[in-house]
Amino acid sequence: MHYRSTRGKASGYTFEEAVMTGLASDGGLFIPNEIPKLPSDFLTKWKDYSFAQLSLEILSLFIDETEIPRADLKKIIDASYSTFTNKDIVPSVQIDKESDLWILELFHGPTFAFKDVALQFLGNLFEFFLKRRNSQRKAESDPVHRLTIVGATSGDTGGAAIYGLKGKENVSVFILHPNNRVSPIQKAQMTTVLDDNIHNVAVEGTFDNCQDIVKALFGREDFRIKHSLGAINSINWARILAQIVYYFHCYFTIVRAGRVDPKIVFFTPTGNFGDILAGHYAVKLGLPVSKLVVSTNSNNIVDRFFKTGKYEKGVEGVLETPSPAMDILISSNFERFCWYIAYECEATGPTEEDRISQAGQIISKWMDDLKSTGKFEVSEASLIKARKEFSSGTTSDDQTIKTINKYYKIKDSDSKKNYLLDPHTAVGVNLANTMRDEISNELGYSDYISVCLSTAHPSKFVEAVEKSLSSDFPEFDINPLLPQQFVGILQKEQRCEYLPNDTDAIAKFVESKAQY
Ligand SMILES: *Cc1c(COP(=O)(O)O)cnc(C)c1O
Repeated sequence: MHYRSTRGKASGYTFEEAVMTGLASDGGLFIPNEIPKLPSDFLTKWKDYSFAQLSLEILSLFIDETEIPRADLKKIIDASYSTFTNKDIVPSVQIDKESDLWILELFHGPTFAFKDVALQFLGNLFEFFLKRRNSQRKAESDPVHRLTIVGATSGDTGGAAIYGLKGKENVSVFILHPNNRVSPIQKAQMTTVLDDNIHNVAVEGTFDNCQDIVKALFGREDFRIKHSLGAINSINWARILAQIVYYFHCYFTIVRAGRVDPKIVFFTPTGNFGDILAGHYAVKLGLPVSKLVVSTNSNNIVDRFFKTGKYEKGVEGVLETPSPAMDILISSNFERFCWYIAYECEATGPTEEDRISQAGQIISKWMDDLKSTGKFEVSEASLIKARKEFSSGTTSDDQTIKTINKYYKIKDSDSKKNYLLDPHTAVGVNLANTMRDEISNELGYSDYISVCLSTAHPSKFVEAVEKSLSSDFPEFDINPLLPQQFVGILQKEQRCEYLPNDTDAIAKFVESKAQY
């Protein structure tokens, strides 16, 4: 399997190149050259597979045996998920029988965010590739292969990346976060990791400033090459790939619960469009899914797209919501989805090759338009096709807070379970309730199963949870619910560098700390 860029000017990349470089040289994102075929009997054959077994089957469809031998891939996968605390890795639980609502819990990894699923895997992949490259060095004097990860975080990505990469040989990690704008728990999760290869930088500025600095550093060709800069944000193809698996795992969990040919609607809390894009690939591979529902907070550029066909930046800038990991202006992974729209609906060339080349041109144009005018628009035909697979909705701050309260208040019964939702998950759960009629109409049936992906453990977002519960449950105390790793974390030793919003200052810091 080879990979090409969404912008069409770069192709023929191996999986290793796609993962190690992150972004294609023409500025596009890597996508696989084709969608592989599943075994025709996968629905029966894979039914009882564990998460790790499913990962091996699905990932090996996208990674040639000649690139990573199956036995090595298995080791990488097993190591990646050995750090999860739930035996099912990503369990699915039914919390309301009446409305047939399930939660796909993705927060049992080391930092209690769904990003662990992909970043544990990515860290082990980096390690595997570097080790292999270094074992092929001919002489002691040959340069050692290294990777310098520079990434920006608004909170969750940084912690998950640090836990995926701490202690990895020949990898240096620099994570920029906006000073005083991540939660104290999130900050402590990052800065209490004291491994030599981990460097936290609190930037005097906003998350956007951090991201701009990272982009500027990648744009400095000499710097990028000298330090072998690598990316861990969700544009990295390996992250999408690893996430495809849990859509399958959830489907089979529901089948094992006795449901024959289940009709499933997935509600995916969406920011950068990585999590739900993995669902799109699951559908492309052939997983039976009734709908994918893009679930956004008021930063709803993607919801607006699925309603109007226009992808348009909001005028107000990023809004602050109770679900901060989804507070984005534009969704970087949306470009991958757009490529498929362009290829399937907008390109008109007679041959496959023509259409692929046209799709790249169309994406380049759309991305140029987005940059220069703040928007682009797709054809009516594209929108109709997109809406067959996707629905979308927006949850307000108020609805988010009320939804947490509603599910916490439930008295356990045979049909309903009391459940503490995190604010991101609540965005999806609210839509599972409010969009019932709309989705039933679109599908032509109402006996579907709603699954909301739960992207974080509620104790990571104490503020929103307390806001939701404090008036009805004055004695509510998050402490007994805190995962062991969070107990006392705020008092632990922290290491962090405080730097101005200045690319040169950050570059200097990276120079001084990167391993040579
Ligand atoms: C990153 C994140 C999201 C958004 O996921 P995308 O892949 O960016 O759409 C949602 N919830 C939480 C808790 C996250 O950390």
